[in-house]
Amino acid sequence: MEYRKLPHGEEQISIIGMGSSVIGEQSEGDIIETVQFALDAGINFFDMAGGHASIFSAYGKALQGRRKDAMLQVHFGANYTTGSYGWTTNLDTVKKSVEWQLERLKTDYIDFGFIHCLDEESDLNAYEKNGILDYLMNMKTQGVVSHIGLSTHAPKMANNILDKNIIDMLMFSINPMYDYGQGDYAIGSDSERQKLYRRCEKEGIGISVMKPFNAGQLLDADRSPFHKAMTTAQCIQYALDKPGVLTVLGGPGNVRQLKDILSYFDTTSEERDYSFISALTPDESVGKCVYCKHCHPCPAGLDIGLINKYYDLATQGDSLAKEHYLTLKKTAADCIGCGHCNRRCPFKVQQMERMGEIKNYFGK
Ligand code: SF4
Ligand code: SF4
Repeated sequence: MEYRKLPHGEEQISIIGMGSSVIGEQSEGDIIETVQFALDAGINFFDMAGGHASIFSAYGKALQGRRKDAMLQVHFGANYTTGSYGWTTNLDTVKKSVEWQLERLKTDYIDFGFIHCLDEESDLNAYEKNGILDYLMNMKTQGVVSHIGLSTHAPKMANNILDKNIIDMLMFSINPMYDYGQGDYAIGSDSERQKLYRRCEKEGIGISVMKPFNAGQLLDADRSPFHKAMTTAQCIQYALDKPGVLTVLGGPGNVRQLKDILSYFDTTSEERDYSFISALTPDESVGKCVYCKHCHPCPAGLDIGLINKYYDLATQGDSLAKEHYLTLKKTAADCIGCGHCNRRCPFKVQQMERMGEIKNYFGK
């Protein structure tokens, strides 16, 4: 397992986390087995916005004696007290549901308390007006909640909450379909979405990625808009390459599916290469680097994807990215102008010319 540090904290978060959208369809024994398999594999980040209320008692049993090995994302606004999932902005219902969840999880603290699934301005208004945001903030003051997060599919809502400066983590739907304007949750243009990822990186907000495979659609050539199946490793790499991303939440239904997700670590960089999706690049995004590294290796030894990521972040005011760039062994100044990257880039980036621009910007 690999880990990435939460910028607003000390937590080291596994780059592959576990979502719980479908695991609740299984028997309690199978859920326990899957969660324990995940823990044994080094997964330490679990999202609890499941489709089924049954997951809570099963997770509670799976985590007995191992609670410290897991970080839980618990959603304030998801109601399970009826025995199935429901969405609510009623304060009493939220309180009851959070208590209900903690009791079954056999825990008295929440690592990440999430503002749950706000996609509309009116949802946020109700959330605030009904006192749910205050309740969540109070839980943080009392030490019950360690960090506050937000789950949304809409860049506009994410930006609204980021403006309030209260969250440390954003749960956002990221996959090439959504970024390129395809599918139900393709909310916001590609550039708006990329800008959000960069803002998160700059402000130290970690992103936990939901829907990395778009419920399997991207893994199926017949249903994918690319008319070619991506692999789980390609989808995971796509999400991990986005600025701000700390963890990608697959939603395995059993141990076999979890093993498939974890086989990412057995793949080569060629097997993770997702650059064929350039076929779907919208006009506005042609010529923009997506940090995919398909143009590697550079004969001069430059990490072209990383150099571009630091450049894009630095030009948006991320001083940390500038520092990181300046410590690189090979910088844009080492480019020998061979043109290999221009010929290899499927996204039509004029990378050789861009290296000159980058060198001028950083002065090296
Ligand atoms: S220049 Fe092209 S191939 Fe290279 S990292 Fe950027 S998008 Fe990928
Ligand atoms: S043009 Fe520069 S950055 Fe591109 S492959 Fe050649 S040396 Fe590397």
